[in-house]
Amino acid sequence: NLLTEIKDKDEVILDGECGCVLINPSDNIKTQWLEKQKKYKERVEKLNKLKGTKSITQDGLTIQIKANIGSVEDVEGAIRNDAEGIGLFRSEFLYMDSNRMPTEEEQFKAYKTVLEKMKDRPVTIRTLDVRGDKGIAYLQIPKEDNPFLGYRGIRICLDKIELFKIQIRALLRASVYGRLRIMFPMISTLDELKKAKNIIEEVKEELAYKKILFSDDIKIGIMIETPAAAMISDILAKESDFFSIGTNDLTQYTIAVDRMNVTVANLYDTSHLGVLRLIQNTIKNAHKEKIKVSICGEAAADITLTNIFVAMGVDELSVNAGSILEIRQCIQGINAKAEREKLSI
Ligand code: PEP
Ligand code: MG
Repeated sequence: NLLTEIKDKDEVILDGECGCVLINPSDNIKTQWLEKQKKYKERVEKLNKLKGTKSITQDGLTIQIKANIGSVEDVEGAIRNDAEGIGLFRSEFLYMDSNRMPTEEEQFKAYKTVLEKMKDRPVTIRTLDVRGDKGIAYLQIPKEDNPFLGYRGIRICLDKIELFKIQIRALLRASVYGRLRIMFPMISTLDELKKAKNIIEEVKEELAYKKILFSDDIKIGIMIETPAAAMISDILAKESDFFSIGTNDLTQYTIAVDRMNVTVANLYDTSHLGVLRLIQNTIKNAHKEKIKVSICGEAAADITLTNIFVAMGVDELSVNAGSILEIRQCIQGINAKAEREKLSI
């Protein structure tokens, strides 16, 4: 309702950092915010100097920092901020931007553009992850009392196989234009992972039969975002090329606290020992199978947790483009060995 409250010629401060709008601020408030703006610009200038440098800890451990994106347009910000790849492309936004299902051709174009723009940097595209409450009417997802515990993510794709195959076909066709990695969301059983991989194999056979090209080096990984997946990560690691930990969902499912419910927001805490132990378990199990682990939930951009993730041995962090340089700065100040010795979870 902001537009009814703000009148012509009103003065407005828009602070994207705290997410607030101040209408007709007093002189005192204006001075405070101008000071804040100055400090912000200084911080950004300092961070910009880190472009082109590596995210290496003081004792020589390299952590890759990639970007989370939700659209083709977001790639510009990722490149501008020096992303070493796309760690999470939330492909569902392609489905949410329209009142009909995106065609194979439309999806192919979007994936191809992202891959081409990222050149030799890897691009991890997550297959469709929607829920009933995300408002995609044409998918006709039934209304559910608990959409977060219901028909979502890979569960929908393994049920609506044709829909899933369209996306897989588009992804495989685009794979020749860059370094594609495909990632499945909301995995909670080994069976789901095997079924999803089988569908990729089926589509590969169909494309090969039609002499349509696709890359022969596409890595297939999964999101670890259910406690079940974290607990069986030793088994899942044998069938995956990489893991990416979705701390947003992992936190809500582990603590049993709805990530969208402001009433219980005080309980939502990724640094809860229960969540951290699952993350550590996942990293250990992945490394036993010699696969890499990324963290791509919001916690990956939380500089109060970076030292813990580094101590646990995380290989990659995937964050919104605006946080890349800040996380790089943080990593450059960390001594991984000292953090490992301190870690007690
Ligand atoms: C997550 O759950 O942490 C995640 C990255 O996926 P999304 O936020 O899209 O559910
Ligand atoms: Mg998630």
